[in-house]
Amino acid sequence: MARITQADLNRIAKTFEERTPEELLRWAKETFGNRLAAISAMQQSGCVMGHMISRIPLDIPVLFVDTGVMFQETLETRDRMAREYGLKVRTLSPELTMVEQTEKFGVLYLSVEGQQACCHMRKVEPLLKVKGEYDALISSLRRADGGRRGDCPILAIDMEMNAVRINPLANFSDEAMDDYLRANKVIINPLHAQGFSTIGCNRCTTPVMPGEPKRAGRWRHLGPWSTYCGINPTDLDDGTATSADLPQDLIDRIMGQKTDFMI
Ligand code: SF4
Repeated sequence: MARITQADLNRIAKTFEERTPEELLRWAKETFGNRLAAISAMQQSGCVMGHMISRIPLDIPVLFVDTGVMFQETLETRDRMAREYGLKVRTLSPELTMVEQTEKFGVLYLSVEGQQACCHMRKVEPLLKVKGEYDALISSLRRADGGRRGDCPILAIDMEMNAVRINPLANFSDEAMDDYLRANKVIINPLHAQGFSTIGCNRCTTPVMPGEPKRAGRWRHLGPWSTYCGINPTDLDDGTATSADLPQDLIDRIMGQKTDFMI
């Protein structure tokens, strides 16, 4: 094994800024092969990503973390994406049901500290179950969503998963998103049409009022100090002092020393 750092990724990601999401997806598949998966919460951007994967087409599995307290509309969106786009969706679940967790720890999500523990058990730990199976995970973070995502990198180290995170939609504007949705009639979670700008667990997500920030509906009951679950590490860390241990030949491919991919 050899080590790749966030500084290494930042160097090559500079050359990625002008590339389209589809070009970045092709690069990811050619670089990581079968050690690559996408992760989607079946919100709008995750549905766009799933549509792109299915239309290129690329054989990339899609991981979906089902916390056990998802909206029915989200589960139905997942099932439609699998059925109509042919996506290989792999659902990951927490160890405890919400009933078992509540019996053991009480209602966690009503306090700031409890929310962090609940999100860790119900979102982060299910993903950690597949640690070691993938060297890279495609996420759907967009800078246009603002907040901590306003400067999210196209490539980031995920220390906990020992993998590279790839955000092909980082530069996808709201206008580009609307155009893509319209032109391709993408399946989207029907909750977006009911005022939900982002969608998570049914316990912690509400619609937003016109003029509110996009993420105002997440953990509204806790106030603005607790606005991310931690499943995307760049939402929480500053993205600097991180590294992953990967095979040397893979690092060479990532850094462009053994690749002949063409755009
Ligand atoms: S969003 Fe709420 S219910 Fe879902 S895992 Fe986090 S704290 Fe728990």
